Amino acid sequence: MAGDLADYARKNKINYFLFNFTDLFGTQRAKLVPAEAVGKMQKAGAGFAGFATWLDQTPAHPDLLVMPDPNSVTPLPWKPGVAWVAGDPWMNGKPLEQAPRYALKKLAEKYAKNNLRLMAGVEPEFHLINTDGSAPSDSRDTQEKPCYDQAAIMRRLDVITDICSTMTSLGWGPYQNDHEDANGQFEINWNFNDALTTADQLAFFKFMVKQIAEKHGLRATFMPKPFINLTGNGCHVHLSVWDKAGKKNLFEDAKDKEGMGLSGLAYNFIGGLINHADSLVAITNPTVNSYKRINAPRTISGATWSPNTVTFGGNNRTHMVRIPDAGRCEFRLPDPAANPYLLMAGILAAGMDGVEKKTSPGKRLDIDMYAEGHTVKDAKKLPLNLLDALRNLEKNSFLRGAIGEEVTSAFLKLRYAEWNQYCRHLTQWERDTTLDC
Ligand SMILES: [Mg+2]
Repeated sequence: MAGDLADYARKNKINYFLFNFTDLFGTQRAKLVPAEAVGKMQKAGAGFAGFATWLDQTPAHPDLLVMPDPNSVTPLPWKPGVAWVAGDPWMNGKPLEQAPRYALKKLAEKYAKNNLRLMAGVEPEFHLINTDGSAPSDSRDTQEKPCYDQAAIMRRLDVITDICSTMTSLGWGPYQNDHEDANGQFEINWNFNDALTTADQLAFFKFMVKQIAEKHGLRATFMPKPFINLTGNGCHVHLSVWDKAGKKNLFEDAKDKEGMGLSGLAYNFIGGLINHADSLVAITNPTVNSYKRINAPRTISGATWSPNTVTFGGNNRTHMVRIPDAGRCEFRLPDPAANPYLLMAGILAAGMDGVEKKTSPGKRLDIDMYAEGHTVKDAKKLPLNLLDALRNLEKNSFLRGAIGEEVTSAFLKLRYAEWNQYCRHLTQWERDTTLDC
C-alpha cells in the first residue's frame, strides 16, 4: 500500500507508472507516467479522451482524468522499474458514473455500512495458443482427456512457473497450477480477498498472463470458447460474505440442517444469484462468444463444465452454484470475458438482494445436470445468446438500479451495438446451410 506514489517510486526503484483504468468491455487502458511527474499527476490525474474507449462518451465530452488508487499499485516483476496502478476516471470534478470500478466501489461501500463485505476468489482459465491464434501452442497436447496432464504442464513449465513465481513475489499467495480440461488450457489458483482487491487482481492477472506468455513467444487467450470442440474458459467465482472487519464468515454455520455448513444468509445470497441469473448473465458472460461456452454440446473431453440451467447443488460441478465446502459457494456461470469490476458488482447486487428479501434458492439438486437435466421441469434456463441476455438485463430494473443506472445503460447500449455488428457478418455456416435453399 502506498499513499504517495512519488515516495513509492523512490523506495521501490520505479521509473514509470501505468495509470490504468478498465473500460466497460474490460479493455485495459493506460497512460505511462514517468516517476519524475507522478507527484503532480497523482493530484491532477492523467487525461484521456473518453470516446476513444468503451465508456459511452462522445468526442465532444471533456477530458477524463484518471485518478490513481494508490492501494492498488503493483510493480511489474517481469518489467523492473514499471508499476501498474488502477484508477477511477473523473469528469467535471466528479467520478464518472459509467466507470465499472467506481460502480463496484460505491456498492461495496454501501454494504460496508451494514457491516457486510463480499469476499471473492476467482479461477480465470486461459489457453496458451500460437501467436496467430489458430491452435493450442503445444502440438503434442492432444489427449482426449487432457485435464491435469502431467507431461503437458511440464512442456509449459517455464511459462507457468514464471507467472506463478511472479504472483508469489506480489504476495498473492498462489497455491496450485494445473493443466485444465481442454488442450492448451491452464488455471492458476491464488488466495481470495475482498471483492475490489480481487477485481483489481483479476484485471492485472489477465494483463500479466498475456505479457509473460508473449515473453515466452506464446499467446494467452481468455476467450470463453476459442475452439468449438474443446472445453471453454470459465471464471468460477468462490464467494462468501464476512463482517466488515474480516473476522467472521457470515456464510458459515456448523448447524446447517442441510449438512453443507452454510448459514441462512448464504442460502439467501444464493437465492439472489438464482433469482437474477438469467439477466446477471449479460454481465457475467458478456460477449457473443460467451454463449458458445454455456449451453454448449458435449466437448471431446466429455463435459463442458459450464452450467446450462439455473440450479444449485452440493459438491457437484454440473450446477450453476456448487457448495464445495462449508462457508462458501462457487458461482460457475461467469467467464473471463466479464469485466472484473462489473462481475463483482453484479454478484454483490444480486446476492445482497437475496439477503435483503430473504430469497429462497429453491430445492438443492443432487443429480448430474448434464445427463438428467431434462428431468428438472421448473428450473430457469439460461439465455441462449447475448441478445436475450441483454434484453433480460434491460428488463431487470432492480439489477440495473443496484449496479448503477448510468453504468448499466452505457453497457447495454454498447453491447447491443456489438450484437448488431455481429449480425452484419455472413458466416460460412449460413452459406453452407442456405446456399441451396
Ligand atoms: Mg477450472
